[in-house]
Amino acid sequence: MKFPESVWVNRYAGLGREFFTELPATGMPDPHWVAQSPDCAALLGWPADWTGQNPEALAVFSGNAALPGMRPLATVYSGHQFGVWAGQLGDGRALMLGEVQTPNGPMELQLKGAGLTPYSRMGDGRAVLRSSIREFLCSEAMDALGIPTTRALCITGSALPVRRETVESAAVVTRVAPSFLRFGHFEHFAHSGQGAALRRLADFFIEHHAPECREADDPYVALLDKVTRQTARLMADWQAVGFMHGVMNTDNMSLLGLTIDYGPFGFMDAFDPGHVCNHSDERGRYAYMRQPNVAFWNLHALAQAMLPLFEGLMPHEEAGERLLATLEVYKTEFPAAMLERLRAKLGLAVAMDGDQALADDWLKLMAAARADFTIAFRLLADFDTNREALRDHFLDREAFDSWADRYAARLAAEGSEGAGRALRMKRTNPAVVLRNHLAEGAIRAAQGGDFSETARLLKVLRSPYDEPLQRSDAALPPEWAQHLEVSCSS
Ligand code: AMP
Ligand code: MG
Repeated sequence: MKFPESVWVNRYAGLGREFFTELPATGMPDPHWVAQSPDCAALLGWPADWTGQNPEALAVFSGNAALPGMRPLATVYSGHQFGVWAGQLGDGRALMLGEVQTPNGPMELQLKGAGLTPYSRMGDGRAVLRSSIREFLCSEAMDALGIPTTRALCITGSALPVRRETVESAAVVTRVAPSFLRFGHFEHFAHSGQGAALRRLADFFIEHHAPECREADDPYVALLDKVTRQTARLMADWQAVGFMHGVMNTDNMSLLGLTIDYGPFGFMDAFDPGHVCNHSDERGRYAYMRQPNVAFWNLHALAQAMLPLFEGLMPHEEAGERLLATLEVYKTEFPAAMLERLRAKLGLAVAMDGDQALADDWLKLMAAARADFTIAFRLLADFDTNREALRDHFLDREAFDSWADRYAARLAAEGSEGAGRALRMKRTNPAVVLRNHLAEGAIRAAQGGDFSETARLLKVLRSPYDEPLQRSDAALPPEWAQHLEVSCSS
């Protein structure tokens, strides 16, 4: 199906008026293209040159026009922000255009930054070019790393001024996902006492996004089980590449276990388990090492929001116990997923006793040396042929040597063969991740009207396991990047 002949539907709109407000986008004056992701277009079944084939595309994806069949709407949700109940939130600057049928199933398309909605609160409904480039690049980068995420199709820009700490220019990112539903959607209907709507939401989600739960003895328990396991695996994915989300509020947690709402995210440079990537997170609630526990806390908020679904079916206490018992699986699923990823990162092909301790000690060694997270794992792939290059990253040579001896013995124990292992490890330990300074380079060029660095970086990030042509893409951050700060302002 080619854009714009795509068949537009919007099943979400069938949920009822409590769930959204229909409204048109507020376009940007005199828009221009900033970036497009050919791989995201391919996901939709659109040709690589879809924008060239469709003169209306720029108008549609800058919020200036709608296609027949689109039904733009902003959804309402609530959430816990930084651990505190925040009440009603909602799509304050996002608009769902509708769903398109694709070879990969129905996909929702969403404009982010296309104007005020009834849920904008103090915001202006806009997104700036800076944060839009970060979201666009990171969405596509995470997908290439094999990590579940919402996708990004394109960015449009405009000279329209937007006030943040300074005055910046506006942009609109088009995001793509099978569903943008969040934990906060459940919380909204539970906390506002809309039991019938909550049930409709749960049934809708099961029908369209978790149909296997229908067959379970208790579909709602099965749904929580599914979300719990997916979230546990997502956390293992994040930790394994040193990704920090920055704002793990319950309204930023996807019910599909996708990475969603890229704001002040970061990738670990020098390894510090306590690193806080979001400058606005003064108390470090969302520090790297806390992410798995925060996700578990957020799952409790979701479970609590599911409680009213059992009203009339069983006593309140029994329902509570069942939901809590369901969450328990997180305590085994997350560590198991993490160990599996660490084994792969260490190049261990079989499981043996002591692997957890070996991996933990490696992480401790890296943390003590403040070794670069991405580079250290990448160099570990060449352990047999170039141990010295890795050793150079550790000031405490003795500590390194003693761990290296254990590692060598462990590899020998499974008869590990160096060349094959190096290849395998280089398919799981990326050479390139979207470090802040790489994004910053693309942003500064784009702010000066040159979008080629964004396109170049996208290409590099889509093949994160290949050695990049420009060695600096895989190198330590430069001196000037030490003081880069990212915050909630986007
Ligand atoms: P976040 O923590 O960035 O995911 O945002 C929390 C809430 O604030 C969400 O409901 C957003 O839609 C809303 N929001 C953030 N920035 C803006 C903005 N510039 N205009 C309107 N709403 C916003
Ligand atoms: Mg959000």
